[in-house]
Amino acid sequence: MAVNEGDEATVSLVDVLEEDEELENEASAVLGGSDPEKCSYPEGYVKRQALYACNTCTPKGGEPAGICLACSYKCHEGHDLFELYTKRNFRCDCGNGKFKDFECKLYTDKDRLNTNNKYNHNFFGLYCTCERPYPDPEDQVPDEMIQCIVCEDWFHGRHLGSVPAESIELQEMVCGSCMDRAPFLWAYAAQLAAPSVTRLSPSKAEVDVEVDVEDGQHGEEKSPGCGEEAKQSVKKEAEQPCTSTACEEKAVANGETGCKRKYDEMEAAAECKTETAGCKLQELKAKGFVKKEGAIFWPYVWRSKLCTCTDCKKAYVKAEVPFLLDELDTVLAYEHKGKTEQESAAEGRDPLMTALSSMDRVQQLELIYEYNDLKTELKDYLKRFADEGKVVTSEDIQRFFEELRSKKRRRMSGGQYYCS
Ligand SMILES: [Zn+2]
Ligand SMILES: [Zn+2]
Ligand SMILES: [Zn+2]
Ligand SMILES: [Zn+2]
Ligand SMILES: [Zn+2]
Ligand SMILES: [Zn+2]
Repeated sequence: MAVNEGDEATVSLVDVLEEDEELENEASAVLGGSDPEKCSYPEGYVKRQALYACNTCTPKGGEPAGICLACSYKCHEGHDLFELYTKRNFRCDCGNGKFKDFECKLYTDKDRLNTNNKYNHNFFGLYCTCERPYPDPEDQVPDEMIQCIVCEDWFHGRHLGSVPAESIELQEMVCGSCMDRAPFLWAYAAQLAAPSVTRLSPSKAEVDVEVDVEDGQHGEEKSPGCGEEAKQSVKKEAEQPCTSTACEEKAVANGETGCKRKYDEMEAAAECKTETAGCKLQELKAKGFVKKEGAIFWPYVWRSKLCTCTDCKKAYVKAEVPFLLDELDTVLAYEHKGKTEQESAAEGRDPLMTALSSMDRVQQLELIYEYNDLKTELKDYLKRFADEGKVVTSEDIQRFFEELRSKKRRRMSGGQYYCS
């Protein structure tokens, strides 16, 4: 990425970072994917949109209802609204059977009910397992709320039942009860979620997680399987050179630190993935794992590691998580869509965005995650100078990127990248 291209790129990156600092920008990213003018109802169950609930029209004790961004502006102006951030597969309820005499100003031709809409206590302004509002006037503990990517409820960090990973903004969280509803995810968690937490500087979370990995070696398996047919193909797969286990094992046997392919470009990795024919879940289960308690924090692009065999796909549908295979499902992809739409509307496009638009989705996500990663680290680095009242020189910036590069090398030789 641009980081390696020298000082010129660095300066423009800092400019971008400053721009990015604006909260306004962040908010518009969330809203940017939704239309502020037109009710989204005619689009049906929208894959992901900014959503609101109206405490004035549909208060607690009645039927929960959700309204689109445009309706929140045009139909419920001045009402007591709950911002629900974004939710998936939802159709705007504004003015339908859930509202008594209230009529939508933007789109009246609605069915009485949207039967596929899913509701939870968020629609009455309550969050987490503790059933509290946000912000909570009675809660003095500073604690960030984190959204579960499966149930889309929000949780206090301290109510997740596990230590939140450092730099959680880089990761996707699945809450404990969703992990239990899709128990096959525990097999992935043992292999994928653990190293991700150690990606940044050492922390408490790292210690905890390393213990998990140890446990995993001796653990009994508890999640549902992929069937005999899948097992057969796993055997076959193991003979192929490029599957993750085979690659890793061979590399270790040859005294290498890991699969060579992990250093390759994204495209090579994608190629590697296509050749994999067996069930990755079975492969992971063979290694053994322990089902833990509490929420799991997943590293970036973890979804691309999920098995896509027929049996696993059936399991995703049964557990109501088929969206996990959809790279565009992530909030990040949605925010990016919002941002790109704005960027292209504005004159003079950001070189980062221009680069993004020429990549496929997996590459885009990789870059966005890396960019966010970098942004956080650079911000911390620059903050040190500000705190000490020192002026940042171009040598300082150069040192930052040198440190970053060596850190990255450490990460990669730490076996935290996968080949599949
Ligand atoms: Zn609407
Ligand atoms: Zn209202
Ligand atoms: Zn409306
Ligand atoms: Zn809570
Ligand atoms: Zn959940
Ligand atoms: Zn499978």
